[in-house]
Amino acid sequence: MPEGHTLHRLATALDEAFAGHAVRASSPQGRFAESAALIDGRVLDRAEAYGKHLFVTVDEIDVVHVHLGLYGRFDVHRDVAEVPEPVGQVRLRLVGSGSYADLRGATACELLTSVERDVVLARLGPDPLRADADPDAAWDRIHRSRAPIAGLLMDQSVVAGIGNVYRAELLFRHRVDPFRSGRSLRAQQWREMWADLVELMTDGVRTGRIDTVRPEHLTDVEIAARGRRRGHSYVYGRAGDPCRVCGTRVRTAVLQTRNLYWCPKCQRRFRGSP
Ligand SMILES: [Zn+2]
Repeated sequence: MPEGHTLHRLATALDEAFAGHAVRASSPQGRFAESAALIDGRVLDRAEAYGKHLFVTVDEIDVVHVHLGLYGRFDVHRDVAEVPEPVGQVRLRLVGSGSYADLRGATACELLTSVERDVVLARLGPDPLRADADPDAAWDRIHRSRAPIAGLLMDQSVVAGIGNVYRAELLFRHRVDPFRSGRSLRAQQWREMWADLVELMTDGVRTGRIDTVRPEHLTDVEIAARGRRRGHSYVYGRAGDPCRVCGTRVRTAVLQTRNLYWCPKCQRRFRGSP
């Protein structure tokens, strides 16, 4: 599933292609046809990401709300001489001068009023990629909860924008047992985790990859390949492989339907954890 950095990159790409100009909107597949007709020919003000949600504001009144879910894509094409015929199930197509964008496979694509957008926003926790984010709002939820921290980090009403990769990697980088309760964390630990998240996710926006491994924990081959392939991880997707720090086999388990990865030695079991 795309994590927050992907949505922020997408918002920037849409902004660069369309903001401040009238756009043609259509729904080649038909599922968004009525709403597309309502915004067709109007000025796209801006695209904004909040966590894993995308909001495209039109004429300061209407807002297209998109959630890509697991399989959605919103591909922005710029500097095109001609806009091609749509291929496949294109839910929403935006066309500007020299640019077009196709949305496919999204979980949500709906036209909202700005009031309805605010209702969606009110359900979300702070987004580490937004300058206005308040980490204390997340701490308020975390330090009162008996739920495992690994579950809380994926709860979009606690922190918006973290997905499975950032979750696993953040817990490893801070040597936190994923199963310990939110309430067992110390405020200072959370402050450090938040600062790290801001840095990691900002880097993700810049590069388009999730790279969480410090150079001293990469092999020479990996350092040489850095930037040419997908990012490197400490534990995510590495079940059974040796931990990059201590050599213990990385473990995996399903927590709330998603695979969790951790090193049982580096992330020592916290007393009281199940
Ligand atoms: Zn380890």
